[in-house]
Amino acid sequence: MNKFEALGLGEAIIKAVDEMGFETPSEVQEKAIPILLDEDTDIVALAQTGTGKTAAFGFPLIEKVDSASRITQGLILSPTRELCLQITNELKNYSKFIPGLRTVAIYGGASIFDQSKEIKRGAQIIVATPGRMQDMINRKMVDISNIGYCILDEADEMLNMGFYEDINAILSHTPKEKSTWLFSATMPREVSTIAKRFMHDPVEITVGHKNTGSENVSHEYYVVNSRDRYAALKRLSDANPDIFSVIFCRTKRDTQKVAESLIEDGYNAAALHGDLSQNQRDLVMKSFRNRQIQMLVATDVAARGIDVNDITHVINYQLPDEIETYTHRSGRTGRAGKNGVSMVIVSKSELRKIKTVERIIKKKFEEKEIPSGEEICQVQLFHLANDIAKSEINHEIDSYLPSINEVLTDFTKEELIKKFFSVEFSRFHNYYKKAKDLAVNTGDNRSDSRSRDGSTRYFINIGEKDGFDWMTLKDFLKETLDLGRDAVSRVDVKESFSFFNTDSEHQDNILSIFEDFNLEGRKVNVEVSKDSGNNRGGRRRRDSSGGGFKGKRRSEGFKPRGKGRRDGEDRDDRSGGGGRRDRRKRSDRR
Ligand code: ADP
Ligand code: MG
Repeated sequence: MNKFEALGLGEAIIKAVDEMGFETPSEVQEKAIPILLDEDTDIVALAQTGTGKTAAFGFPLIEKVDSASRITQGLILSPTRELCLQITNELKNYSKFIPGLRTVAIYGGASIFDQSKEIKRGAQIIVATPGRMQDMINRKMVDISNIGYCILDEADEMLNMGFYEDINAILSHTPKEKSTWLFSATMPREVSTIAKRFMHDPVEITVGHKNTGSENVSHEYYVVNSRDRYAALKRLSDANPDIFSVIFCRTKRDTQKVAESLIEDGYNAAALHGDLSQNQRDLVMKSFRNRQIQMLVATDVAARGIDVNDITHVINYQLPDEIETYTHRSGRTGRAGKNGVSMVIVSKSELRKIKTVERIIKKKFEEKEIPSGEEICQVQLFHLANDIAKSEINHEIDSYLPSINEVLTDFTKEELIKKFFSVEFSRFHNYYKKAKDLAVNTGDNRSDSRSRDGSTRYFINIGEKDGFDWMTLKDFLKETLDLGRDAVSRVDVKESFSFFNTDSEHQDNILSIFEDFNLEGRKVNVEVSKDSGNNRGGRRRRDSSGGGFKGKRRSEGFKPRGKGRRDGEDRDDRSGGGGRRDRRKRSDRR
């Protein structure tokens, strides 16, 4: 018997589960499904986003409705159109092998008459946003007077969005003796109020800790001067070449501005906020899902619907006003068992807020420094080298090879590599070579920056793909180098390589240990990173003398990765037009 059968699910669902490739039930599924199948009870289930709540209520709901009757028996309320469609899709997959079972989605921004027609054809299950649902009840286009199950999905978000009154009104059209199932990531006061008001003696299940984020998310903050926020954002992106991120801003205006600046600077970015038409929003989401957009800049409200599994980074361009909101934001990453990072860009005056967030989410933040220009160049170079190593050879080039070889015949392999990298890299490198240091000294003990003087930064060619994260790499280094507890610091693990610091006195010793060092058959290479931290102050002074701004801006836009970015025309275009550059200059200051 498989693990889903053991929960009491029937054959048709098991078949669908097999087809979807689910192997083991998630914790919330394991806890909720048997209860919901066995009893007609109300339930409050708290679990983070990405833990499989849809199936936790979807499986039992599908088991319970009578597909032979066309009457609407289950209603699922969900905060956004996006989620509404997603749930509908999932339910359709789950019930694929149950003939006659129909699930219909009802949401704003699309024809109400078409939706009404769909319902008239018979819908045992309706998935709706509260606003449109209300509308359709008022127009007598739906009948929910016979439902046996009402599900409030993402209840905290629905309440956050001000749907309390709508929910209230909708529930008043449902029979008293139905069951109500409430699913939520967090349990703010408003949710308990709803639970008390509309539910009878609900069973409570909690997965993980209330109000804490996913275990798979690490939290980092970066202190910068307010005027450097945007520059800091770009560096965080440049230091993570494979970033696939959501960037949160507080207002629509900031959202639009940051997205526009990023686009102008050559990043694959887009804005998502409430001033966009539904059509525009759909397009943005589609491009994001397809990875044509790597950086989605969003307001909290607009991002509610985002349910994309592989987001690597959430960046808080500003901290939200409400701490609950931080939980929602960071919950967009670290989904479906993947690791994620939630980064916060803060000014010194906001540091206190970090402590408050830590208290509430019961997680520690790590203070990190905005990567220096040198470090970013190293990351990008190595990333490019890896891309080259990984890429498949296009044999259509073969016929041109003799002529190409003729041009390049006098160069050694080494020279060719250098030339190739120079072509790909000079602009980027020139910008960052001169870029100022954005790190702000906070004097916070948790920062490693105090050990900066007299410390050496190293580059090592092992990283995430070798199974390391910053803690395991730190342990590995301490053990290998036989150094004390705090001797290794500022460990920064990237996909295929990493950085770390030690006191400079260990430098010779460390280099000699790694002179000839193998890890599982692979040569481990350690070099002193040019960005040894010690000369940072010097760069900062040199840089603040102003001037050279235009040249910098131009090359800053060039990013040697991603689709279309290497396109020469694109680049030339971007660097032309003085007026345009001036505009960008202003936006950089914001
Ligand atoms: P939540 O509503 O808690 O945010 P979802 O129900 O949207 O999470 O599920 C997140 C993703 O995980 C979906 O893509 C879903 O298909 C997948 N999923 C759900 N349950 C399982 C499972 N038991 N095994 C594997 N994948 C699952
Ligand atoms: Mg969900």
